[in-house]
Amino acid sequence: SLVLSGIRKRFKDRDVLRGIDLAIPNGEIHALVGVSGSGKSTLLRIVAGLETLDAGTVTWEEMPLDGVPPHLRRVTMLSQSPLLFPHLTVGENVTLATPNRSREEAEAWLARVKLPGRYDAEIHELSGGEQQRASFARALAAAPRLILLDEPFTNLDPGLKSELQRLIRDLVRELELTALLVTHDREEAMLVADRVTLLETGHVRATGTPGRLSETESTFGDFVELGGAL
Ligand code: ATP
Ligand code: MG
Repeated sequence: SLVLSGIRKRFKDRDVLRGIDLAIPNGEIHALVGVSGSGKSTLLRIVAGLETLDAGTVTWEEMPLDGVPPHLRRVTMLSQSPLLFPHLTVGENVTLATPNRSREEAEAWLARVKLPGRYDAEIHELSGGEQQRASFARALAAAPRLILLDEPFTNLDPGLKSELQRLIRDLVRELELTALLVTHDREEAMLVADRVTLLETGHVRATGTPGRLSETESTFGDFVELGGAL
């Protein structure tokens, strides 16, 4: 499981995270919601080891994450903007991420994200959405146990978006991963998440099942307003 305890983070004179406690069991897809600036990305970056924390601990499988060398962490992060090496082909980007540098595996991942036959394409030959899918392939090819998703579906067209949302959900189940997903999208939380946590002014305001969202006709913004009722 992923256990966050007492996480605090301050930027200059701003207390962005004021003591975050959160426990996410293995196999869970946990959505993180909250208004812009509430610290969602900062929290994910801390878990990913990309940002320092001022207080608190992050443990994964009973191990403090900061004591584990990055290549042994098996934590991967995907954000809104694709992260690919521009001087490598699409397929090379994915192959390099696989534990055994396997072209075959890379081709299989490219097929799963609906980019079959694009192994030899240059990165700049792909559209934004295709690059995002290649990033998914690369992230999954690395055989992570914990996957951190920071609004990764935002730049995709609606059809592709729901296809990839399903793909991620199914792969988390199939590969027994654990996922932490930042989203602004109520339907996405409904479709993908087992539980949802609402962040507000640096605190966990509420944690609950996304089913509680369906009890109201409100927009996701209203959900944020009503979060205390979860
Ligand atoms: P959004 O929904 O807009 O992505 P968020 O919840 O992800 O917002 P964060 O990106 O975590 O919010 O930022 C939280 C606060 O911390 C913001 O006020 C932001 O300006 C501040 N912040 C984030 N990173 C830094 C940084 N490197 N230096 C200074 N302030 C920062
Ligand atoms: Mg953010």
